[in-house]
Amino acid sequence: MKEDFLHYIWQHQYFDKADLRTVEGKPVQVLRVGVYNTDAGPDFKEALLKVGEVEWSGSVEIHLRASDWRRHQHQLDFKYNQVLLHVVWEADAQVYRTDGSLIPTVELKNRVNPALLHTYEQLRRAPFAIPCAGFWPLVPDITKTMMLGRALTERLEQKGGEVLQVYRQLGTDWEATAYQLLCRGFGFKINQEPFERLARALPVQVVRKHQTNQFQLEALLFGQAGFLAEPVDDYSTSLAREHAYLSKKYQLQEQAMQRHHWNFLRMRPANFPTVRLAQLAALLVSQRSLFSTIMHTKDAKAYEAVWQAPVSAYWQKHYTFGAESKAVQVQLGKSSAQNLTVNVAVPLLAAYARHTQELTYLDKAVELLEKLKEASNRVTRQYEELGWKAASAADNQAALGLYQRYCQPVNCLRCAIGNKIMKQNTPTA
Ligand code: SF4
Repeated sequence: MKEDFLHYIWQHQYFDKADLRTVEGKPVQVLRVGVYNTDAGPDFKEALLKVGEVEWSGSVEIHLRASDWRRHQHQLDFKYNQVLLHVVWEADAQVYRTDGSLIPTVELKNRVNPALLHTYEQLRRAPFAIPCAGFWPLVPDITKTMMLGRALTERLEQKGGEVLQVYRQLGTDWEATAYQLLCRGFGFKINQEPFERLARALPVQVVRKHQTNQFQLEALLFGQAGFLAEPVDDYSTSLAREHAYLSKKYQLQEQAMQRHHWNFLRMRPANFPTVRLAQLAALLVSQRSLFSTIMHTKDAKAYEAVWQAPVSAYWQKHYTFGAESKAVQVQLGKSSAQNLTVNVAVPLLAAYARHTQELTYLDKAVELLEKLKEASNRVTRQYEELGWKAASAADNQAALGLYQRYCQPVNCLRCAIGNKIMKQNTPTA
């Protein structure tokens, strides 16, 4: 058993409260269980209890064994002086506050329905990627829908929070934030790290100065990415010359990357980083204010058109420098464009909603996800095997959120589906 089970038992009061007494023999009445505390300090704050004849308001601390109090050194910690009640599975010691006063203790070992503990252990020890797989068909659809909705909201909150961190690191500049996210997005899975590095090697302030000139932007992007060190044809020679001039002008030489930072292995030519850089240059030229575009583009289809800006003439015949091809597929594909909507536009909208408290941006993010179809992935397939089906990118994102935050760390007691399972399998819970 882990302490989270006792937290759950206390929070829902799933124990026999008849003639509840401290181990010292005083009667205890729980008038308010308190608020679960995820920060430092006691586990539940603002509880209201009647111990003996006196009503107290304060905290509750929970441990598997009473002796854990000393093991965690709470007897020396002033934060634990407001603890009114020590709730333990096994009362194997008496515990004291820093001033030496005794803390009343309640033992739960003989007050919890064994069926509840059994179900918890079944979830905790399940040999499945989704620990509740064996119970899944018995859980009502409405519970699953509700939990997935919660997981999606939490995921958007988390994504928005991550973007806000970038926004602060970049000196509260939304345009710079959008540029950084877009670069990372263009790396997709395989080249995400080098694209992030490129965003640092080529600051948005420099990009802004050359946003009307696709040739100069290509020179800056390919040059800073390290693809112009050894030009192989007329076009790359011209770009290299332009890059030499611009990188000197903006003192960018030291940040320049090298070709070996980029991954070409096991990749279709249409996904080569050289093609992605040409597509990124085209997009940056077509959108003077990237952030404003992302905030105000109308719908999923319009976002697709934004990402799919036409590449320059050279890249309509090349996947990489020096090798001309006849049938080149250079346009950003539909699924890649949708990927950018999910991983660039949606987090940025969620961040801006959080920053401005304007919920319309969050609604827009959710609407976009609901309109998009997204291919299943390793995680969502695990739920599909249980009979669940994603109808949109919103469902996929919800499943990813559920998996990462709840199923993978076996956080079933904080999950509505897990709660339903616990209740359904414990007649008196
Ligand atoms: S966290 Fe919820 S959905 Fe995931 S395995 Fe546990 S009970 Fe099931």
